[in-house]
Amino acid sequence: SHIEQSADLRLTSNIRFAVVIGSGVMGAGIAAHLANAGIRSLMLDIVPRELTAKEEAKGLTLESPEVRSRIASENRQKLLKQNPAPLATTEHLNFIDVGNLEDDLERLKEADWVIEVVVERLDVKQQLFEKIAPYIREDAILSSNTSGISIEAMASVLPEGLKARFLGTHFFNPPRYLKLLELIPTEKTARPVIDFMGRFAEDRLGKGVVEAKDTPNFIGNRIGTYGLLVTFEEMLKQNASIGEMDSITGPLIGRPKSATFRTLDVVGIDTFVHVAGNVYETLDAGDEKDTFDVPAEMKTLVEKGWIGQKAGQGFYKKD
Ligand code: NAD
Repeated sequence: SHIEQSADLRLTSNIRFAVVIGSGVMGAGIAAHLANAGIRSLMLDIVPRELTAKEEAKGLTLESPEVRSRIASENRQKLLKQNPAPLATTEHLNFIDVGNLEDDLERLKEADWVIEVVVERLDVKQQLFEKIAPYIREDAILSSNTSGISIEAMASVLPEGLKARFLGTHFFNPPRYLKLLELIPTEKTARPVIDFMGRFAEDRLGKGVVEAKDTPNFIGNRIGTYGLLVTFEEMLKQNASIGEMDSITGPLIGRPKSATFRTLDVVGIDTFVHVAGNVYETLDAGDEKDTFDVPAEMKTLVEKGWIGQKAGQGFYKKD
């Protein structure tokens, strides 16, 4: 069936320009990694747009060039703040353009590859895909960086023709340092598209690629989420501290200093809650399901806004 699918497949021969949608922890990290590899990108997000009191007094509108340029520059600052050491040189930083999703939809047509990196919620991702589908060039690749939401469920809102060029491209955090990339095709993803992305990721992005099935949280996060939740459970049972658990799951067993809960601060506790939920929702009642039920303590951290490094505070204060 793959041969049939590829018969009328038009596929770009190279990725020269990418659009990264979402400028959070992972979007910024992926754009930075692309820049380091010499690939230009445009990073889009939802930018809150309001006039300052001064701008209003001057009679300016959101369309005024000086307002637009202030907002663009704030957007850029946000990128730099979120990802403090993303890039080696200013030259590379200039490979990343930033924009506002609402204003820059037309620019999606320039992209050889569009990667979705927004919040881990199926409804948000589906709405986004419906909105952007008409702007994806007919030889371009579209992918999602989801940690574990069904790729098939996202594909279901896409037009038939685009399904062949859609797959999961799951980077690990931080994309600059972690070598693994999971590729998650659906049944409709054309084989040449999977192979092309695999080669591109290995040759240009320096990744080690594995192909994963479209199961909740794929491979890495299915294991990682479980390990983390069990470590938390064990900590409560042993009346141990976060620091103690990190020290015995870190350098002592040959892992770098960013052990279990430090890693979770880098990931974002809010994102983790969604990712654990991906598996929880699919399990039948029982012990395994209970393990994937995020502990109340973590939910409290999220309610307080202590969601990790991106907020300056998670299990640890940002150092
Ligand atoms: P984040 O919370 O840091 O950033 C999410 C960004 O999405 C925010 O900037 C937000 O403004 C933007 N956004 C929300 N709705 C949007 C919309 N409709 N259109 C455009 N932008 C929108 O999250 P993150 O950690 O960067 O995660 C993004 C995706 O990557 C998720 O699917 C997550 O599961 C996945 N992921 C995360 C990690 C990790 O370690 N954090 C690792 C691998 C994959």
